[in-house]
Amino acid sequence: MFNTLNEKLQSVFKKMRGEARITEDNIKEAIRQVKMAMLEADVNYKVVKKFISGVQEKALGEEVLKSLSADQVFIKIVNDELTSILGGEDPSASKITLSSTPPTIIMLVGLQGSGKTTTAGKLAKHFQKNDKRVLMVADDIYRPAAIDQLEVLGKQLGVDVYSDKDNKNAVDIAQKSYEYAKKSAKDIVIIDTAGRLHVNNELMDELFNIKKAVSPDEILFVADAMTGQDAVNVATKFNNDLDISGVILTKLDGDARGGAALSIREVTGKPLKYVGVGEKLDAFEPFYPDRMASRILG
Ligand code: GDP
Repeated sequence: MFNTLNEKLQSVFKKMRGEARITEDNIKEAIRQVKMAMLEADVNYKVVKKFISGVQEKALGEEVLKSLSADQVFIKIVNDELTSILGGEDPSASKITLSSTPPTIIMLVGLQGSGKTTTAGKLAKHFQKNDKRVLMVADDIYRPAAIDQLEVLGKQLGVDVYSDKDNKNAVDIAQKSYEYAKKSAKDIVIIDTAGRLHVNNELMDELFNIKKAVSPDEILFVADAMTGQDAVNVATKFNNDLDISGVILTKLDGDARGGAALSIREVTGKPLKYVGVGEKLDAFEPFYPDRMASRILG
């Protein structure tokens, strides 16, 4: 992901370095090309607009034009604006808030196939490494295969899984799993909820009722980065209905253009907390806006 965007931005910077003199005109041209590169990478147009106006404001200032290394200053400005739309430099924003009275409840929501169940396993492994006692809850009552999938992951990791195939009430399962977690002194409960191919009211009602019943500390929207702008639209819908606390972006190892990854934070206003970079359980990283910006700029 981001290969094309990286190449395009590199060529803009290279051209700038080749200029005998940096003028307002060639900075304007460089900004125009950065804008094109962002749009081609499928970044949401509102995000591009905000990003470009930030770059413009700083890059057309006197200091840049007078500077001897105007190209370096320009790259820094682009880097800073990119970091800012990805969530800024506040490292606490990307952390999971652990409850002062355990267990901490994390509810994973998102469309079917976005990577919720895999992410439940990845998160469980992440917390297990930090010596936390984890419970995973199979709360996708519509797909027995999803329950099996979570149980397999639980066995693989040696993590407890709460499931009840005979219970057809997702809210009840969530409540009972919470009681079970308290009794068995778990630190973290990860609820894997049902997804659908498309957003619908029935699903949202169910998720809303689970939220009401167990008051999760975190509601993390799991988004498939490969689905481009659709991931951004669906995130907006989930955020409006459930007031999510953050986003986990999966399949960043894929070859999508990266626009969703660059837009979702700015559009929803909610932090990206982790990214999935492969199918394996350790292909999972905390999200750092500044590191991602540096990776994109190369
Ligand atoms: P769910 O329906 O939301 O629970 O999605 P799953 O966890 O079953 O994942 C759907 C597919 O995406 C599976 O084939 C996963 O292996 C795959 N997947 C999940 N996360 C990632 C990731 O970060 N990278 C890649 N390449 N594949 C992923």
